[in-house]
Amino acid sequence: MQKIEIKNLEVEIENKTIIKDFNLTINLGEIHTIMGPNGVGKSSLLKTIMGDPNYTIKNGDILIDGESIINLKTNERSKKGIFLGMQMPNEIEGVTTADLMRSALRDDENFKLYSFVKEINGLCDKLEINKDMLHRSINLGFSGGEKKKNEILQMYMLKPSFILLDEIDSGLDMDSLKIVASNINEYFKEYKPAILMITHYENLLDYIKPDYVHIMLNGKVVKNGDLSLVKEIEEKGYNLYNTGTNEVDEKENHE
Ligand code: ADP
Ligand code: MG
Repeated sequence: MQKIEIKNLEVEIENKTIIKDFNLTINLGEIHTIMGPNGVGKSSLLKTIMGDPNYTIKNGDILIDGESIINLKTNERSKKGIFLGMQMPNEIEGVTTADLMRSALRDDENFKLYSFVKEINGLCDKLEINKDMLHRSINLGFSGGEKKKNEILQMYMLKPSFILLDEIDSGLDMDSLKIVASNINEYFKEYKPAILMITHYENLLDYIKPDYVHIMLNGKVVKNGDLSLVKEIEEKGYNLYNTGTNEVDEKENHE
């Protein structure tokens, strides 16, 4: 994979348009951040890229190296190297993290159980996770921090080349934030993926430095820039970018 393009994307959920005229291109080796207030469609965008069937694409396309992926199922997108670290990771009773990772990876011709166990245990040490967690139902009774660390563990195991991180910093205390951020940075250095991350907080951006910052309002990007945009938002808020000409307007969304 070299490049992912989102072109004129329009997405609906329950007959409500939540993303419209959305355009973004991300190359391998780049880190992009989307910032924006609550409810503007950030999580919906990432879930649409990952193939969440609740979202309907009404227009536009999502392409990897020029090839559309919007008719692929989520597991097929995952095999293409896309990974989503969720804002609120799902709890799956009866399936452990170790089970999930083993079933995701065992079809690989290079799969070796011994290396698998060694790697996943090593990641627990690296992420400061108790190894018992590998053998518990995924996310069931996990703390907010444990859930987020578990997402990063899965990222490391699956070795994706296009990584979507939805508020990976929320629910983390400062120590966990540092651990999660340094692991993302380490992964980035080693594998040079493309990263698209969503955050509300500058805290995360103290640790992970995006090359591009995009501001999203009412379902589309209204401003592109670099880290200096973050300072601007901090000082002036998002309203500065609200031109009032968005197609997906308040009325449509909140009736
Ligand atoms: P953000 O991540 O930017 O806070 P979301 O993508 O979660 O925003 O939500 C965008 C809009 O879509 C919101 O108005 C939200 O209420 C709506 N929405 C998200 N998921 C659903 C759903 N499953 N059913 C109905 N509306 C939804
Ligand atoms: Mg969200």
